[in-house]
Amino acid sequence: MTNIRVRAAHPTIIPVPSPRIPAIMQNRDKLYVDGAWIAPHGKKTIDVHSASTEDVIARIPEGDERDVDAAVAAAKAAFASWSATTPAERAAFLQKIHEGLKARGEDIGKTIAQEVGMPLKLATKIQAGSPTYTFAMYSKMLASFAWEEKVGNSLVVREPVGVVACITPWNYPLHQIAAKVAPALAAGCTIVLKPSEVAPLNAFILAEVIDSVGLPKGVFNLVTGFGPVVGEALARHADVDMVSFTGSTRAGKRVAELGAQTVKRIALELGGKSASIVLDDADLAAAVKGTVSACFLNSGQTCSAHTRMLVPESKYAEIAKLAVEEAQKYAVGDPFAETSKLGPLVSATQRERVRGYIKKGVEEGAELLCGGADAPAGLAKGYYVRPTIFGRVNPKAAIAQEEIFGPVLSIITYKDEDDAVRIANGTPYGLGGGVWSKDEAHALRVARRLRTGQVDINGGPFNPLAPFGGYKQSGHGRELGRFGLEEFLEYKALQLKPEPAKN
Ligand code: NAD
Repeated sequence: MTNIRVRAAHPTIIPVPSPRIPAIMQNRDKLYVDGAWIAPHGKKTIDVHSASTEDVIARIPEGDERDVDAAVAAAKAAFASWSATTPAERAAFLQKIHEGLKARGEDIGKTIAQEVGMPLKLATKIQAGSPTYTFAMYSKMLASFAWEEKVGNSLVVREPVGVVACITPWNYPLHQIAAKVAPALAAGCTIVLKPSEVAPLNAFILAEVIDSVGLPKGVFNLVTGFGPVVGEALARHADVDMVSFTGSTRAGKRVAELGAQTVKRIALELGGKSASIVLDDADLAAAVKGTVSACFLNSGQTCSAHTRMLVPESKYAEIAKLAVEEAQKYAVGDPFAETSKLGPLVSATQRERVRGYIKKGVEEGAELLCGGADAPAGLAKGYYVRPTIFGRVNPKAAIAQEEIFGPVLSIITYKDEDDAVRIANGTPYGLGGGVWSKDEAHALRVARRLRTGQVDINGGPFNPLAPFGGYKQSGHGRELGRFGLEEFLEYKALQLKPEPAKN
């Protein structure tokens, strides 16, 4: 390591004047660039709201193109020495970041419960636990990863792609950041992170942890701001070699368009409209419980949520009844209350969008089995939406085709298995999905016919070592496991002169 470490000053913490701002929140007025907390070039700020009280809980810098230039220049300067570190050196840093995040797990859980609205217990387990694990996973993986192989007379080596811009959404904010930052660091890339402006506070915690472990300056940089400004400046930047983007299909298309001008590598993790197929030989109670859970987790704000349940026509009445009974178990309420199973949505925009879709579902003629567009009882404040299930949804209806990103499940009936597969594949997306059958071989046969990146067989759990990503307009590229590390690597072929043949 030739890079000299400059200790960064701690960010200034400005007390926020409103008495309604909870004590656990701090205002953030600095960006993390070149190993230091620095003032942004501009003066504008972005308000961060509590999902459950709607109060402003923090302010963050609204970065601009000048901040992007400074961060990219730092990442570019740091690349030569960081890319020359050994895998063992990088593994040691990743392990330290893992430990730093672990020590702040409670803090991260509370922060995300506030900014996203997921109930605290779940937020601590999933939203804090998963990214913490991801750093350890990549630390460990570096010991066994094959960095080179002989192919004929060539030595094929894997090398880091360069400066990576990571642009991330708000729904599993730190998980999505870790799924990019950990493998990019492991690969030897340097990074500029632009987190979601809606739930950015967790990213500041990560930057503090990274600062505390002494990562060489410029290897990791944090610039907050709006997508069309900071995100687009990164996608356009000639010195950014790759953009790893997670977010909406709309913004992903824009990033791909801009990135094409400099022929940079673009990885896109986009939206979904995943189908859970209940086959006629499934355990119906288990299938319904699993599907409702895979739809409602994080109040439906999960890109791979199973938002369509495809059921045999003959079993519709039984399944609809089970689904309503299941939905009633999802107590909606304050993410900090023990009894809450579903928190609010992330923002007023999201709440209005989801309520709009519920109204549209009714207008389109679907059967409203439970829930609805009104605010849940007693929760007039906060971005709450009632868990909603529609029955007999037309597969071509907007609520069956478009990503709603709320706790809204559409039950669609099918005639036979071919019909089920056709409906499942009949959206522009292909991210997740599920198949339920008492016969695993039967479920696997159907799963293989689905044009989608992941399929859970009988509720098979999420596996961070497996590739995660989409077909069709759900994006391209894969995250997590060794597949996620490979995303950040180039191939180089070194042609060796063959030994002269011996007689
Ligand atoms: P979004 O597209 O609005 O924002 C995502 C990120 O992109 C944010 O940081 C945002 O500031 C930035 N951005 C917005 N416009 C941009 C532009 N023109 N150029 C560059 N950057 C821009 O998405 P969101 O509302 O934050 O997140 C929800 C969406 O993310 C959903 O569609 C969901 O399905 C998707 N998502 C996908 C995955 C996946 O792995 N496939 C995971 C989580 C979320």
